Amino acid sequence: MTIDIIGAGFSGLVAACYLSKEGHQVIVHEKHDKPGGRARNFKTNGFTFDMGPSWYWMPEIMENIFADMGKNIQDYLSIERLDPAYKVFWKDDESTSIPADMADLYSVFDGLEPNGGQKLKDFLSDAELKYTIGTQKFLEKPGLKLTELLDSAVFKNFFKLDIFKSVEKDVCNRFSSHKARSILRFPVLFLGEMPNRIPSLYTMMNYADLKLGTWYPKGGMYSLAVALMQVAESFGATFNFNANAEQFECEDGRIKAIQFSGHRHEVNQVIASADYNFVEQQLIPEKYRRYSPSYWDKKKFAPSSLLWFLGVDKINPGLEHHNLFFDEDLIEHGKQIYEAPSWPDSPLFYACVTSRTEPETAPEGCDNLFLLMPLATNVEDNEALRNKYLKIMLDRIKKHTGVDVESHLIYKKSYCIDDFKADYNAYKGNAYGLANTLMQTANLKPKITSKLENLLFCGQLTVPGPGVPPALISGKIAAKLTSEKIKNKLIHS
Ligand SMILES: Cc1cc2nc3c(=O)[nH]c(=O)nc-3n(C[C@H](O)[C@H](O)[C@H](O)COP(=O)(O)OP(=O)(O)OC[C@H]3O[C@@H](n4cnc5c(N)ncnc54)[C@H](O)[C@@H]3O)c2cc1C
Repeated sequence: MTIDIIGAGFSGLVAACYLSKEGHQVIVHEKHDKPGGRARNFKTNGFTFDMGPSWYWMPEIMENIFADMGKNIQDYLSIERLDPAYKVFWKDDESTSIPADMADLYSVFDGLEPNGGQKLKDFLSDAELKYTIGTQKFLEKPGLKLTELLDSAVFKNFFKLDIFKSVEKDVCNRFSSHKARSILRFPVLFLGEMPNRIPSLYTMMNYADLKLGTWYPKGGMYSLAVALMQVAESFGATFNFNANAEQFECEDGRIKAIQFSGHRHEVNQVIASADYNFVEQQLIPEKYRRYSPSYWDKKKFAPSSLLWFLGVDKINPGLEHHNLFFDEDLIEHGKQIYEAPSWPDSPLFYACVTSRTEPETAPEGCDNLFLLMPLATNVEDNEALRNKYLKIMLDRIKKHTGVDVESHLIYKKSYCIDDFKADYNAYKGNAYGLANTLMQTANLKPKITSKLENLLFCGQLTVPGPGVPPALISGKIAAKLTSEKIKNKLIHS
């Protein structure tokens, strides 16, 4: 059976791997000239920049995919655990580095508040249970029936999963210091909401962060996309780059053909891994859409971001590979993302320097500095605003590290809301998809199935959610459902 996949981001790539391995003829159509989607990279003037994700957590998900493919991951990827995992800068001009070793980490927490190490041990022990149940019982569910969630381990541990308690409440009940609380709130920021609106079930991410570690694949996050493309190609999948899906031609409840950059292409079975909202609202004829514009408008989206890619002709020893500037108030910044969308008065931001771990990603004596400032979706975006916030971030880096990055810039490029819209057809210019609030979790997400009989969705707007590991799993779920559908059809025909 021929299967057409729209989009070569992580979710589309994984779907391509599983389905081509089963012997299907898979064609992946991608708008851009390379794979990776939000995880693309670019190279310029000797610098290499990952354009999107930079935190690699839960590497076992990628390892399991390679094992399912019968491949040895070491033949494709080399990964190393970062130590320190990251550095946090505080308002009082102090900083905290998060070590990989657990005994060292407990000592760091002992320094943050009385008995901090023991409190962290207890917190992570509870988070481990949530992680184990979450990854084994929820992560790979397609979210189609409530009965999927019925499981004896879930029932037995229901109250320990803290589905109705917020991360904020859980963390603040256990920890008293601002710094310990901030470190433990940080991972849920990936989920696109404030910690008081995210179920404490997601403290499973603290377990992934602090216990399982932060990893770096040599070649950057883009190398994960290249590895997946190579695996899919080894099973015969082909890639059609610079192919922009423009319209679906539908008949009798099925997609008959798709226009890709002006070319009509007949299809059998389709997986759309491009942004769900765009495919549903722009490509599918109205009568086959499951959701309305107001449904999408009411959905809570994770933030967009202002990104800066900076080539700096000076190494800044004060910065580690990952750096969090938590020297302003998270709640106030959060309000300007979610409650009164606007450019923030005093933003938190993140700085990444992969050349700290892999010097080849910058010329000798230089840093490749990537800055990310979370920003409300759909606010005004222009050069003046982007530059204003670059200055704010560089001033803060100077204040904390003593290095005047601005006077050492030899390359700069920004990326923001308008680019997310133009490059990924991202609804309201979102960067990370839908927020993982309780009302947008599991079966309550936009469905992976479609009203069109031969279409399935995958990617960060459907199950299981935003982020690299969920996007990978999403492709796996879509491939499994597609494969079952094809088998059922063969049995009944
Ligand atoms: C700045 C940033 C930082 C992030 N940081 C992290 C992080 O540190 N850790 C983490 O786990 N996650 C992070 N994420 C989230 C993570 O990158 C995404 O959740 C994940 O990569 C999404 O994969 P996807 O396959 O769902 O979508 P995408 O990567 O967006 O893939 C969809 C693909 O579809 C293509 N496409 C769109 N429209 C069309 C069309 N009409 N025709 C053909 N192709 C089309 C796009 O070009 C794209 O290649 C980050 C995201 C961003 C943007």
